Amino acid sequence: MAGERILVIDDSAEVRQVLRDMILEPAGYRVLEASDGAEGLRLVLGEKPDLLILDEQMPGMTGVQVLQALKEQELSVPVIFMTAHGSEGLAVQAFRLGVRDYVIKPFEPEEMARAIERALEEVRLRRERDRLVERLEEANRRLERQLQELNTLYSIGRSVTSLLNLETVLTRVVEAAVFLTRAEEGILLLAEPETGDLVLRAAKDLEERQAKGLRIRVQDSLAGQVMESGEPLLATTGQVKVATGYLVRSLIYAPLRMPERGVTGILGVTNRKTERPFTTHDVQLLSALADYAAVAVENARLYEETETGRRKLEAVLWETEEAVIILDPQLRILLCNPAAGAALGLPPDAVGQPASEVIAESALQELFRVIKKAQRTLHAQVTVPSGRTYSAQLTPVEGVGYALMMQDITHLKELDRVKSEFVFTVSHDLRTPLTTIRGYVDLLERVGPLNDQQRTFVERVRVSILHITDLIGDLLDLGRIEAGYDLEMEPLHLEGIIDAVVEEFLPLAEEKQQELRWERSPLPLIRGNPRRLRQVMENLLSNAIKYTQEGGWIAVEAAEDDGHIVIRVADNGVGIPLADQPYIFERFYRAQMEGTEEVEGTGLGLAIVKSVIERHGGRVWVESRPGVGSVFTFVLHAME
Ligand code: ADP
Repeated sequence: MAGERILVIDDSAEVRQVLRDMILEPAGYRVLEASDGAEGLRLVLGEKPDLLILDEQMPGMTGVQVLQALKEQELSVPVIFMTAHGSEGLAVQAFRLGVRDYVIKPFEPEEMARAIERALEEVRLRRERDRLVERLEEANRRLERQLQELNTLYSIGRSVTSLLNLETVLTRVVEAAVFLTRAEEGILLLAEPETGDLVLRAAKDLEERQAKGLRIRVQDSLAGQVMESGEPLLATTGQVKVATGYLVRSLIYAPLRMPERGVTGILGVTNRKTERPFTTHDVQLLSALADYAAVAVENARLYEETETGRRKLEAVLWETEEAVIILDPQLRILLCNPAAGAALGLPPDAVGQPASEVIAESALQELFRVIKKAQRTLHAQVTVPSGRTYSAQLTPVEGVGYALMMQDITHLKELDRVKSEFVFTVSHDLRTPLTTIRGYVDLLERVGPLNDQQRTFVERVRVSILHITDLIGDLLDLGRIEAGYDLEMEPLHLEGIIDAVVEEFLPLAEEKQQELRWERSPLPLIRGNPRRLRQVMENLLSNAIKYTQEGGWIAVEAAEDDGHIVIRVADNGVGIPLADQPYIFERFYRAQMEGTEEVEGTGLGLAIVKSVIERHGGRVWVESRPGVGSVFTFVLHAME
């Protein structure tokens, strides 16, 4: 590459001319000339030539002195040294002073041309290298800046998705906007729902005078344009109005956009003094930041909405007298209202703990055990240590886990107790007059002859008295069982009791041509009251015979199952409608089935069965289909 500038320092005009006219200019170099060292040095300083051709022997400064001066002044320029024949020693000295090459006078033009080419080649290479290094450094700087931009965007993105409060996120967004666009100021305005005005929510480096209550009406303003178009705006006209008395040289506005909700605000950066205009790259950066801010605003709004809903729900839960506990799918306590805390005596740190560890009541423990498999609403009655009784309900709740609700039914239980007590007392009091009536009815025939009609009437009175006596007997029994009287427990073999009851009922079954089967098998010992358990078997068997048509069958089975004994009394009788099944164990409840209207009963038999079995810690239930038959099953704990 020619065109380089070469300075020739030589006192001989002839040599300078030869060099210029024969070698340098024909090769396309530009030539500077100096006739002595001092002038040469000045030109080196002022013109910064690419190469120096320096003569050694000059009046005034010698070539070596010029080299020394260059070194002292730290002027680096490649030098070709011209020495006279026989002074190679000087050439060595010159090399030490940094000379690239030397040529001995007189020289052949080609020799000088080659020396120049060599020296310049080196210069060119170095220059190329410097340019490359500079480009690399520039690329590096750009990369670093991009990395910094990405880092900033990334960290803003993270703070948007983390649960920071809105003010903090918005302030961070504005700071990042100012930092990335190297702006003087930054503002973030949100649209006020009532007026539509844009109100300042966060700022960076804004003068207090402007920051105070900054509010921009959207009509006819640049901000309004952005709100309407939803597109960012770059203004660099030199006189841009942000608000009254707030003029800047250039600005960018980027909209906070949210699909479906439109533009909710504006992120802006402004330059008040700096002339440097914003670039389209700055617009892109600002738009990305504005998108983050929009997400943060929307998140905050949704959070606020859910939080309000949650607070309302919490207030309702807190105020209600019903005990409520919300559990997660693993049955850990998520929430528990004061009524529940008080009812179950929960510790203050119950929330977060597994329900089965902090709630001791066995009936609830049983619900927790069963619910995961059952996945339907379960009920239980719970009496807590304070003596109060609750009706508890555990329900699966989609997306949450479970809800445990407990209603205080202590007063209902008390009412029930008072009622039972009343019935018990009345029944007891009725017994004496009834005995008297029965006595006199029996006496009637003895005191004088009765005609046929009178005898029929007396017989009807006797049957009715028997019926009332039965009823009173049952009522008194039920009262005693519920009150826990006459329930002394002892180890016993239930199959012995069943033997006796089956024996007792065989004649009755035979009368109706029914087959009564007893599939006897040895059972483990249980603890129980023999009189009451006999009553259970009697009631179940008498029902089976009563509610089975002539010629039907009744089967009694016994089995042992995992520490329990299971007794079944099955028949192929009239069965029980599904709708009646939940109530037949209640006092005085009698199901209505065709063909059983004539069957006599008190409606107390199954109530006694249930009471006795529950007093023994067992369970009883029925499975039945009308027209097919019924199976009554009860389960009792075997003794260990
Ligand atoms: P009752 O004195 O009426 O027999 P229970 O309490 O023993 O009173 O029985 C309640 C009701 O349950 C009966 O009225 C009857 O409708 C029904 N029931 C009981 N056992 C049977 C059975 N084995 N088959 C059909 N229905 C039955």
